[in-house]
Amino acid sequence: SLKGKTAVVTGSNSGIGLGVARELARAGADVVLNSFTDREEDHKLAEEIGVEFGVKARYIKADMSKGEECRALIEQAGACDILVNNAGIQHVAPIDEFPAEKYDAIIAINLNSAFHTTAAALPMMRKAGWGRVINIASAHGLTASPYKSAYVAAKHGIVGMTKVVALETAREPITANTICPGYVLTPLVEAQIPDTMEKYDMGRDEVIEKVMLERQPSKEFATVEQLGGTAVFLCSDAAAQITGTSISVDGGWTAL
Ligand code: NAD
Repeated sequence: SLKGKTAVVTGSNSGIGLGVARELARAGADVVLNSFTDREEDHKLAEEIGVEFGVKARYIKADMSKGEECRALIEQAGACDILVNNAGIQHVAPIDEFPAEKYDAIIAINLNSAFHTTAAALPMMRKAGWGRVINIASAHGLTASPYKSAYVAAKHGIVGMTKVVALETAREPITANTICPGYVLTPLVEAQIPDTMEKYDMGRDEVIEKVMLERQPSKEFATVEQLGGTAVFLCSDAAAQITGTSISVDGGWTAL
């Protein structure tokens, strides 16, 4: 059980981050949810997790595009035994047309935020004598696709940075790993289905199989619960010697 541990999950008011926070809470961890908004529903999400799983759950607003706010999130959390760097955005365009400010934002949120949160969290993990750094990368941390220069650069970057964190903590009871999801059916992905159906003049199932899951051999989406379960496993004693590596949850994408 993760009772007594505190998990901070960046970008966790929806999608994978929320799924990971829920599974860590189910395993007994207190959780800190985060995003850049400060709405009633954000705090309500945390409250509901607290009630459902009988853990302490809070929502802390912090914009992961800003280094100081990344560090402030960890300071405000007060404890951080499990750090899940999940916040991420995407933009798709050919490199010669890619807006420079989009490029900078993707690198800041998908990569640099993990540098700042990790820097702030490691001293706390050392003091507590235990720690887990779990970075949510992507199949695009290991392979590339056209038109995703910023995303692929950021995700390859975080895979590399995770190895460095693993080496710097190798003699301590702290591990650092990446989880590399393939396509996951989050609300964000679900929202793209109607447009894609229209664009290709296909039905829902055909769009999912032939367009969205073109590179995912299983032809099934990964789920946020599966990603949460992988995070819980990385927090277990069985995973204590797993460090500096990545676990693909991608239905065979990177085996192709
Ligand atoms: P999502 O849009 O549902 O979640 C992204 C989260 O990040 C949201 O909670 C959002 O509020 C938050 N966020 C965005 N900008 C932020 C900022 N500036 N500060 C703080 N929080 C911010 O998308 P998702 O699919 O759940 O993606 C989560 C992570 O998983 C991302 O890093 C993404 O790259 C990665 N991923 C997703 C898929 C997929 O198929 N959905 C596949 C591989 C990797």
